[in-house]
Parts: sequence; structure tokens; C-alpha cells
Amino acid sequence: MNSEDEIRPGQVREITAVSNPVIKHMRALSMKKVRDETGHFLAEGLKLITDALDGDWPVHILAFSKNAAGNAHLQSVAARARARGAMIIEASEKVLSAVTRRDNPQMAVGVFSQKWLKREAIKAQDIQLWIALDRVRDPGNLGTIIRTADAVGASGVILVGESTDPFSLEAVRATMGSLFHMPLTRMSAEEFLDWRRGWPGMVVGTHLEGAVDYRSVDYAPGPVLLLMGNEQQGLPDSLAAACDHLCLIPMAGQADSLNLAVSTGIMAFEIRRAALAMPQPEAGA
Ligand code: SAM
Repeated sequence: MNSEDEIRPGQVREITAVSNPVIKHMRALSMKKVRDETGHFLAEGLKLITDALDGDWPVHILAFSKNAAGNAHLQSVAARARARGAMIIEASEKVLSAVTRRDNPQMAVGVFSQKWLKREAIKAQDIQLWIALDRVRDPGNLGTIIRTADAVGASGVILVGESTDPFSLEAVRATMGSLFHMPLTRMSAEEFLDWRRGWPGMVVGTHLEGAVDYRSVDYAPGPVLLLMGNEQQGLPDSLAAACDHLCLIPMAGQADSLNLAVSTGIMAFEIRRAALAMPQPEAGA
């Protein structure tokens, strides 16, 4: 970028050219290498951008559709981003489509800084459930699990080993905003095994050869660390051996396994039901 095109705080610029260097920077964030180098990522749509701002995630750029410029909610979101020093861009549909790689882009897209929790910051006190994923590969699965972890009231998600990037566009979309509420940390399998030795609660793994029906485990009083296996290979022996229980969700029919995100949801809600008070629906609701 030359000095003309540098991202300057508080600016509002109109950009209609996909070749503009700021737009090129935004488009390049579809590449993991660029996300890793810059620590930036994209979030699309007013709901996600609002969640990010509410959670005080550092915002760098907010680009919105010229066609939506009169939208009051958009204006207030843009004003909040601008007050935090973000560059504000009024963009053509073509530019937003190019950035988000969609034919029908949402009316706004933001560039934010990633946040990772240091593993030392995972505290056992006051927490009941952490979810660890071994080498999760599919961004849709990862995003759905982060959303589910948020819904079940988990304290955070641990990515173990080489995983898909939670800050890819596909994963961020699938979180539906839960990314901004759910602490994330990452570690190698060796670091996980080392860290696990200090975990004060139960470690529950899931395995298709698991000996225990997941409904028969006494999860109370927690904390519980739920460990889920890779989509193709399941849990390797080294991680399976680190679990206090290896649970199976019994299946009927011909399916040989459940989808990773679905099985994570079943396990997490069962642990929550068994070990914690679930919020009750209001009478008459
Ligand atoms: N071919 C893999 C295997 O043999 O383990 C299938 C893995 S499955 C698609 C991905 C992960 O989802 C598993 O490692 C496990 O964590 C979880 N999972 C799927 N179905 C399950 C079930 N019926 N019971 C327990 N865990 C299950």
C-alpha cells in the first residue's frame, strides 16, 4: 500500500475499485497465511459486526454497501467503529462481493484482530465445561461447534494439533457471532497432554469404540473437559489414553458415525444437563 491508501483511523472513503490496495488487503484475508501474518480476519453482516464491537474486539476497517447507507442500524454500527479508530469505507456491491466472495454480499464487512487465550489463562475455578477438538478439519464443523459451545454455556474451546482456522470466512460465518463470546486457545497434542495433567476435573473422550454409554457417566460436579476426535481418524491412541472415560453415543440404523458437530452438541448438552442446572423455560412459555 502506498501512503494514499494506508488505512487511516476515522476516515470515511468511497471505494468502487476492486484493485484498490485497501480492498486488496481485505480480499487477501481469505488466505490463512495473510491472516496469520497480520492477525486480522473478516466478519460479515451487521449481527456479527455488532457482536464483535460489543465484545470490544479491535476493529480496523468497516466497509458497507453504498446502497445501504441510509440504514439507521448500519449508521450507528459505522459510528461505533469509527469512534474506535476504524477506517470506514462506502463500497460498491462489486467490491463487497469481491471481499466476501459472495454474489449477494451482506451490507457490511469488518476487519478485526484475532484473539487467542493463552493456555495459562484457562482457569479451572468457576468453570464447568471446556471442549477440546483434535485436529478439526472442516470450517463449518468448527464454526458450528463454537456456536454450540456458546449455546451450552461452555467456558471455551481448545484446538488441539493442526486445525482448520476459526478465523476463516466459512468458520466465522458458521459461528453466527458466537466466535466473539467464546474464548479460544490452541496447543499441540504434546502441549495438550502436558496441560491435561494439571486439569482438576474429569476428561471425557468420545470414541466409536468407546466402552461407556455417554448417558451412564456421572459428570457431576465437574469441571469436565470434553475431547472430540478428528473427522476422518477419530481420537489417536495417545489422546484416548488421556481420557477418564471414552464414551459412545449409541446409534440405530446404518450410519457408522455421527457428524463431529452433532456429536459434540449431544455430548455437551448431556454434560450440562447432568452436571449443571440448565435454565428452565418460563412457566406458560
Ligand atoms: N472414522 C472415524 C472414527 O473411526 O473414529 C469417525 C470419526 S467421527 C466422524 C468424528 C468424531 O465425532 C469422533 O472422533 C467422535 O469424537 C465423534 N463421534 C461421532 N459419532 C460418535 C458416536 N456415535 N459416539 C461417540 N462419538 C462420536
